[in-house]
Amino acid sequence: MHDIEHEAYDTIVVGARAAGATTAMLLARGGQRVLTLDRARLGSDTLSTHALQRGAVTLLEAWGLLDRVRAAGTPVVRRTSFHYGGDPVHVPIRASRGVDGLYAPRRTVLDPILVAAAREAGARARHGVKVRDLSRDDRGRVRGVVVEGVGGEVRTLRADRVVGADGARSTVARLTGARTTRRSDAACAYVYGYFPGADLDAIEFHYAPRTTAGVFPTNDGAACVFVGVPPTRLAAARAAGTRALFDAALATCAPSLAARLAREAPVGALRSFPGAPGFLRAPSGPGFALVGDAAHFKDPATAHGITAALRDATLLARALLTGTDRALADYARERDALSLGLFEVTARIASLEWSLDELRELHRAFSAESRRELATIEALAETRRQSIESSAGAADGALRGQAIAQRGPSVEGAPSPRDGDERGAAAFVVGGGPHGALPHGRTGWNNPYEDISR
Ligand SMILES: Cc1cc2nc3c(=O)[nH]c(=O)nc-3n(C[C@H](O)[C@H](O)[C@H](O)COP(=O)(O)OP(=O)(O)OC[C@H]3O[C@@H](n4cnc5c(N)ncnc54)[C@H](O)[C@@H]3O)c2cc1C
Repeated sequence: MHDIEHEAYDTIVVGARAAGATTAMLLARGGQRVLTLDRARLGSDTLSTHALQRGAVTLLEAWGLLDRVRAAGTPVVRRTSFHYGGDPVHVPIRASRGVDGLYAPRRTVLDPILVAAAREAGARARHGVKVRDLSRDDRGRVRGVVVEGVGGEVRTLRADRVVGADGARSTVARLTGARTTRRSDAACAYVYGYFPGADLDAIEFHYAPRTTAGVFPTNDGAACVFVGVPPTRLAAARAAGTRALFDAALATCAPSLAARLAREAPVGALRSFPGAPGFLRAPSGPGFALVGDAAHFKDPATAHGITAALRDATLLARALLTGTDRALADYARERDALSLGLFEVTARIASLEWSLDELRELHRAFSAESRRELATIEALAETRRQSIESSAGAADGALRGQAIAQRGPSVEGAPSPRDGDERGAAAFVVGGGPHGALPHGRTGWNNPYEDISR
């Protein structure tokens, strides 16, 4: 660890997956000296299915990373279907604004792409390092982290700010006592696995009383197939094994899908998630900020966590590059404005306490909230595109990030620029301009949740 301990960083980001690696990438593209740390191994899997909504795909495209997702063999998805009991609604997914469809990359694919992009922009990324504590100054402001490496060595690393992107059980949130501002106990349990032989190329959602199921086509020719049931049902089924529960739930909720999978064996074991309460936490305080699941967790019922993580990393990076308390307050306000409606609707869907007609209404409500969110994301992405077109490289932080990558190898220790000009240009990287109201309103996107509302 000696190579990372003598640096003074602008920001240390704890966690290097969807939220953390993205925040590190955007801060480094904006000229900050950034270190991101993760206790997990680079490229390891995590307990999560991985459908990206259009907002996430839009951001990946704007950052120049969607081609890497495609190059990793992630299939583009152009059809979605929602099945309410036996009643299907088929939704084509239109190409628009550089987004040719939806994607569901495995986390073993997406997270390393984000880490590589952070490194190319000049950030350092270190895995196998666990943050145990925070260091503070005399006034109690967070000034760094206390870490433990794989060999057990303990070090203090200093930074102007620490970002907790360390998941729902965030160490940074616990150590800072970050306040929970909203909570929902509605939770669903999930069992999922990967089926390579089933030839499933569309996103599917199936609903029956107190049961859900679905399909996300993904890498290696496989489809991620999941079922969702009340947590008590998963707990009761554990003795008999999760495959029996998976098959039974699929048979009642999605008989046609169950028939297609009847003779298929999953690759590896089925995975189960027992359900967890949703929450929003106040996302910043003296010397620290939270992003991703550390700041905001909601039930996977609406498959929106990664999209929210990429969105909020963008908003947080913009605030940190601006560097004022007001910008951080704006981050909290914008995060809440975009999240609260989605949070409430997701909790109601996750409760599984709906009739199929009520569920359609909930999906319409989710669609309306998603449209507002996408309008914001598209505005962020559009400013980024315009900055590339208009800057010819001079003022564009992302191109600057590429230039950094070209100046030196994209490995830990690559130089990270830090001068006033580059900080000034940072706004272009993540949305541009001074803080102000972001446009909300209807756009022409076609997230499945929107399309079924028509
Ligand atoms: C069953 C399930 C299914 C889901 N399906 C979807 C879906 O289809 N689509 C979707 O968009 N979202 C889905 N989600 C939600 C999604 O997984 C999360 O929203 C997303 O992972 C959040 O990313 P993150 O980077 O904030 O946190 P995480 O992915 O949790 O990453 C946090 C990282 O922090 C590291 N870390 C934690 N503590 C420390 C420490 N002390 N020191 C160093 N490192 C630390 C961890 O090792 C981890 O790598 C699902 C979640 C679950 C549970």
